[in-house]
Amino acid sequence: MSKLVVISGPSGVGKGTVVKELQRMYKENNEKLYLSISCTTRTIREGEIENVSYYFISVSEFQEMIKKNEFLEYNQYGTGKYYGTPLKKVEEYLDEGYDVILEIDVNGYRQVKERMKDAIGVFIMPPSIEEVEYRLRKRNTETDEVIKKRLEIAKEELKTKDEYDYLVINERDKQVETAEKVYRIIKRSI
Ligand code: 5GP
Repeated sequence: MSKLVVISGPSGVGKGTVVKELQRMYKENNEKLYLSISCTTRTIREGEIENVSYYFISVSEFQEMIKKNEFLEYNQYGTGKYYGTPLKKVEEYLDEGYDVILEIDVNGYRQVKERMKDAIGVFIMPPSIEEVEYRLRKRNTETDEVIKKRLEIAKEELKTKDEYDYLVINERDKQVETAEKVYRIIKRSI
């Protein structure tokens, strides 16, 4: 049976790399995985690809989609920007036997759990809050002010970890091991 997996964790925790590693593992095993592409109203970052990393849309387009009930879940993040998971693709891929990964925040996770009881929640933990700051700064894609805001959000997000079904710590430079742990969690949960 296809699994719907929600992966959350503070921004800067290395979720993106872990998810990329998971995609590689599925491919290697000839298994079907769809990584949901979210819509967002934030601006594109260097290294991101339009319609692959996100669908970058305007606030009015986002609001139009809300009106038409086209989101499985959506949220206005602490930075003031909107993020949402388009529902149709998720349903289609699950129907076709794909496991589906949503890389979303805790507000989104709560909405998904309400609507889809079988969803599996995995929270990726940093080894420490200092490590999150280190990674955000290393990424060097945001202003000091945004980094500070993201750190504050990260501290709040860490408090929600117990709502998840599984916690996985992503140690520095251990993304492959972390992804293997998540892979085993997905495969053994019914
Ligand atoms: P970033 O701007 O760093 O790409 O993402 C900021 C936060 O928004 C991250 O915690 C990310 O997981 C979350 N996020 C990304 N897409 C979605 C979405 O579709 N829905 C929700 N609720 N959160 C999302």
